[in-house]
Amino acid sequence: MSKFIEGQDRSQGTLFPERLDDFVEEENPVRVIDVFIDDLDISGLGFRIELAATGRPRYHPKMMLKLYVYGYLNRVQSSRRLEVEAQRNIELMWLTGRLAPDFKTIADFRKDNPEAIRLVCREFVMLCKKLNLLSEKLVAIDGSKFKAVNSRDKNFTKAKMKRRLRDVESAIERYLAQLDQTDQTEPAPDDAKTLQDKVTKLREEMARLKKLEVRMLEAPDQQLSLTDPDARSMASRGTGVVGYNVQSAVDAKHHLIVAHEVSQAGSDRRQLSTMAKQAQAILEPKTKLTVVADKGYYNGDELRECEQNDIVAYVAKPKTSPNKAKGYFNRSRFTYIKDDDEYECPAGERLTHRTTTTDAGKTIRRYWSSVCGSCPIKSQCTNGKERRVSRWVHEDVLERAAKRLKRNPEVMNARRSLVEHPFGTLKSWTSSNHFLTKRLSGVSTETSLQILAYNMKRAINLVGTRKIMEMIDP
Ligand code: SF4
Repeated sequence: MSKFIEGQDRSQGTLFPERLDDFVEEENPVRVIDVFIDDLDISGLGFRIELAATGRPRYHPKMMLKLYVYGYLNRVQSSRRLEVEAQRNIELMWLTGRLAPDFKTIADFRKDNPEAIRLVCREFVMLCKKLNLLSEKLVAIDGSKFKAVNSRDKNFTKAKMKRRLRDVESAIERYLAQLDQTDQTEPAPDDAKTLQDKVTKLREEMARLKKLEVRMLEAPDQQLSLTDPDARSMASRGTGVVGYNVQSAVDAKHHLIVAHEVSQAGSDRRQLSTMAKQAQAILEPKTKLTVVADKGYYNGDELRECEQNDIVAYVAKPKTSPNKAKGYFNRSRFTYIKDDDEYECPAGERLTHRTTTTDAGKTIRRYWSSVCGSCPIKSQCTNGKERRVSRWVHEDVLERAAKRLKRNPEVMNARRSLVEHPFGTLKSWTSSNHFLTKRLSGVSTETSLQILAYNMKRAINLVGTRKIMEMIDP
């Protein structure tokens, strides 16, 4: 007898042939994918189902969807790798009924069905809601920059272009100076030719950059990305990234992502109400939905939009007061007296309304007092003729937001723990190559699939495959 464990003989026949189903255990997550997608009513989701140009029937969208969801759940996102896996992976063979489309068909499905795939992601959130996995009343909104398929060298902004042109120009000057020195030597040394070649190459590079500069300046935001034209240069944690700003709304109960959006905007300042309204539409909370976001989202119009849509927003206010930095009284030391439409200053004087202006589309009212010149504490208030206070016509929205936050400061601590988990997980799944596709549409579809996989994995961990399957197919 051998002292090692022995495997089965390859040529051994069996009395009862094994079925594919025997290899997929009852609790396998692949069964959740199967039941969830089989149960979907895809007629209203907008999948492309018409015959191909050749007249050949297409693969069923549900089968293709199963293939992709399995891929994203198991970190096999590339269409070429999915093609290979579909031919050798028993779970995938079970899931697809042993169909194995070629990589082009797989890639085209993702490219052709962006909105439908996004709606499938939403359907899973609805299932989580039925499973009672959502708080349905508190969500944290956050954004994270994800790298695009576009290197930093192939992205040009005005500042970057200026730097590149300057570098090339100074390199040309340096080599020309070296060439001048070699000219004085007889006979000309060997490296004169090398230097001349370098100057020629740099001049070609200069001509290429000049052409790119014209294209860059023609773009609406004066930015040019060569590999993925939709990718944008963005600041991220003290450095720059060429990519997309992925926004998410994370439910407080189990950190499930209830809404998402991919944006080309480098700033979060205009994202709050869009994300909050999306979360509200999905969750349909019985009471007002509460959203919490960091100071990057602080914007009067956005807070007002939330208020007008019955959404209670908690957003930290950035500390940007120039007066405080100069050592003068902070703006919060001036109290607005609503009934009189006046401000009371730290010296107890009244600042009355003087002018109304428009700044960046906002109507701003300005207030000041005429007694500042004789004020004993003026040196702590202003170095101008008088201290002027500006008030947005909808400033009461900001005042209500500040009061809310003061009453309930712990909500901001909850925010941090909520948003870090999903983005940390998504980034660790994809390592440095977050996206495989180009353009906003492709990247948005990939994000929907990543988030669907994240939510599915989390739901399975929370309640188990059996309970999910019973909920879908009692
Ligand atoms: S300088 Fe004018 S606004 Fe400032 S405390 Fe004195 S009176 Fe009030």
